[in-house]
Amino acid sequence: MYCLVQRPHKAYPSELAQFHSEDYVEFLHRIRPDTQNSFRTELARFNLGEDCPVFENLFEFCQIYAGGTIDAARRLNNQLCDVAINWAGGLHHAKKCEASGFCYINDLVLGILELLKHHARVLYIDIDVHHGDGVEEAFYFTDRVMTVSFHKFGDLFFPGTGDVKEIGEKEGKFYAINVPLKDGIDDTSFTRLFKTIISKVIEIYQPSSIVLQCGADSLAGDRLGCFNLSIDGHAECVKFVKKFNLPLLVTGGGGYTKENVARCWTVETGVLLDTELPNKIPENEYLEYFAPDYSLKIPSRLIENFNSKSYLSTIKVQVMENLRHIQHAPSVQMQEVPPDFYIPDFDEDEQNPDERMDQHTQDKQIQRDDEYYNGDNDNDHPAGS
Ligand SMILES: [Zn+2]
Repeated sequence: MYCLVQRPHKAYPSELAQFHSEDYVEFLHRIRPDTQNSFRTELARFNLGEDCPVFENLFEFCQIYAGGTIDAARRLNNQLCDVAINWAGGLHHAKKCEASGFCYINDLVLGILELLKHHARVLYIDIDVHHGDGVEEAFYFTDRVMTVSFHKFGDLFFPGTGDVKEIGEKEGKFYAINVPLKDGIDDTSFTRLFKTIISKVIEIYQPSSIVLQCGADSLAGDRLGCFNLSIDGHAECVKFVKKFNLPLLVTGGGGYTKENVARCWTVETGVLLDTELPNKIPENEYLEYFAPDYSLKIPSRLIENFNSKSYLSTIKVQVMENLRHIQHAPSVQMQEVPPDFYIPDFDEDEQNPDERMDQHTQDKQIQRDDEYYNGDNDNDHPAGS
């Protein structure tokens, strides 16, 4: 098992429009902080401004994190790796025609659409403290994607959806699973429920690949979250999913106590590489963020768990009951697979030498000797394990 660092391509507007509406993508491309005041109607229509502010290089930011998830899916499709990670991705709230909850482009939906070119059934699992509403909505009417979201529900907690009764519709009925939880859930109750539900889902649905959104706002002490998971508890879910040995696409997501987000995704990178990392964070330029103890793991806190045994049991029973309606894994007639979307990098040859290079372009020209890197869209060389 080894780790290969790949630089994502910047997703093209036409790739983003595989899910999002063209006018929304076009507006994201066009809008600038200094001109936004002239576009009040559009800003309101696309839900930009308040929770989803317009900032410098917003579109490029979207292109990079979405490109990362799309590339991850393509590498899995081409069997270039077993596990692909994009910690910059996981923006699960974005909708077809609007931004939502800090999410502009839904990279998860784009990654899943890519996986569906090669996989009959994709399982999506979300352990962010918020409901994975954008992904659920995108696949609410299909049985080719099963979405399972564990999240805080109630007390008007964002985004307000994700009741256990939301189960999908039409072809997708029973293929959306929601596990609504209350404040203060701890490692023991969360991981027990997670393992019971996920093993049953995999047994019945038999997905051929899995997408796991690892939002770190479900950790204890998150600025916006209200769960009480330790890093070990959060990582236990990642470890459990990995054990099924299915092609696995892992992304980040929310997380608002930033030093703990870095800790969590570091530990989980270790888990995915079967590597236990030392608990003492080594010398690095960000070390002061991890004061005073400079340790990698964070424990859970002494707060009340509002999820009683009987509440958790009721939720489990309802989810299991819904799963009983799925008699067998739905089959699909796979059609001819369209080729990976490929357009040569637009800024490579046409760059004006008088213009300052942006960081992404600059980075691309640095040849690192500790990684094998052959340029964007390089799918020809088997690598990774
Ligand atoms: Zn979140």
